[in-house]
Amino acid sequence: MDERTEQLRHLDKAHFWHPFTQMRDWGASDSDPLIIESGRGAILTDTEGNEYFDGNSSIWTNVHGHCHPTINAAIRNQLEKVAHCSALGFSNEPAILLAEKLSGLFPDDTLEHVFFSDDGSTAIECACKMAVQYRQLTGEESRTGFVAFGGAYHGDTMGAASLGGIGVFTDRFASKGYPLQRVEDLEALEALSEEAARSTNVVIIEPLIQGAAGMQTWPEGMLRAIRDWCDENGAFLILDEVMTGFGRTGKMFACEHEGVIPDFLCLAKGLTGGYLPLAATLTTRQVFDAFLGKYDELKAFFYGHSYCANPLGCAAALGSLQVFEEESVLDSIQPRIRYFREALNAVVESSPHFGRVRQVGLAAGIDLIDAATGGELDWRKETGARVCREARKHGLLTRPVRDTLTLMPPLCSTEDQIGGAVSGLKQAAEDLLG
Ligand SMILES: *Cc1c(COP(=O)(O)O)cnc(C)c1O
Repeated sequence: MDERTEQLRHLDKAHFWHPFTQMRDWGASDSDPLIIESGRGAILTDTEGNEYFDGNSSIWTNVHGHCHPTINAAIRNQLEKVAHCSALGFSNEPAILLAEKLSGLFPDDTLEHVFFSDDGSTAIECACKMAVQYRQLTGEESRTGFVAFGGAYHGDTMGAASLGGIGVFTDRFASKGYPLQRVEDLEALEALSEEAARSTNVVIIEPLIQGAAGMQTWPEGMLRAIRDWCDENGAFLILDEVMTGFGRTGKMFACEHEGVIPDFLCLAKGLTGGYLPLAATLTTRQVFDAFLGKYDELKAFFYGHSYCANPLGCAAALGSLQVFEEESVLDSIQPRIRYFREALNAVVESSPHFGRVRQVGLAAGIDLIDAATGGELDWRKETGARVCREARKHGLLTRPVRDTLTLMPPLCSTEDQIGGAVSGLKQAAEDLLG
């Protein structure tokens, strides 16, 4: 190990508290955190010069690869003008153009209004607070209920976390959030009592696939049916496309697969191509108009963050949308999505360590199973994490959800890189588990 890396690791362990991380393990003397130094396309390089395929798109954020010339130029160009200015009382060109472009990705007269915030969690908070305030402004005070799904993940701020259905993330804070009705599936939603339906303000879901639940896919047609339920019962539909947005599922947005337009659409992770923290909550004129009034009616949406509509982030997002157009990304990924599916199916068939595989577009989860019994592994053994760690030796970086291995290659990944990642996981599982 070189001296600089050693020194950085030492300082990291002394001062840097990492997210979703048991810091006792991280700080142990035999732990050797990777320190990423640079990235090009789908490849990340550490401080010791080792190269890795970014197999989970840097926790589901990256879209067109690292250091993309178009996005770099967009940021650099904006950086020479101004890095940040407030959206409270002022506006800025990249934010204006981005708001127009985002709403232009949907049919006319649908999601016309764009509210910017910082990350997925705040995009969700913003949608939820808008929905709550809307009901107050329109005299529907009895519509207070939130409906969220089992296994849901909507972020870590208190309100967003209270909607989540993954116990280890949310149970400690469950009493602190929105009044919640948890449903496991469409049937449970449709079975809600008339009274519960009438008092439902919002149904919130990650469309098509739940990432943090271990890449769990929803049945086809479910999203359409939820939209219909919301329409019949006067409830809002919030779609959390923080993970699924920006081409991940093979279309620009997951909701397009079933021709659904939500009342609120939450975007973050891939919005800037995975470059900078920026989020957007899109909504309808119906919602927007309810907040209009005389100043002293206090109908305004009193919500915002210091970095709302940050010009650098908005410039990066415009750069990313430009790449989608110039490089016909959504067309060009289709053959690689098919290749990915075939590679996943082949590897699952050929390895006793792999159980079910679930895939949507360029996102997939493979369950590790006990090769002897075919049953689940004991999660306490951290097999998923150990397999992913072993995969580094095969030039692959990714992260499991417990014992589900996940792969989420950047949209720019080549067939070779995708195939290499899938076989890297297989080799890692075999090296470690026999
Ligand atoms: C990551 C994620 C969030 C939270 O976004 P942050 O930017 O981490 O706050 C919310 N919903 C989904 C579906 C996500 O994948």
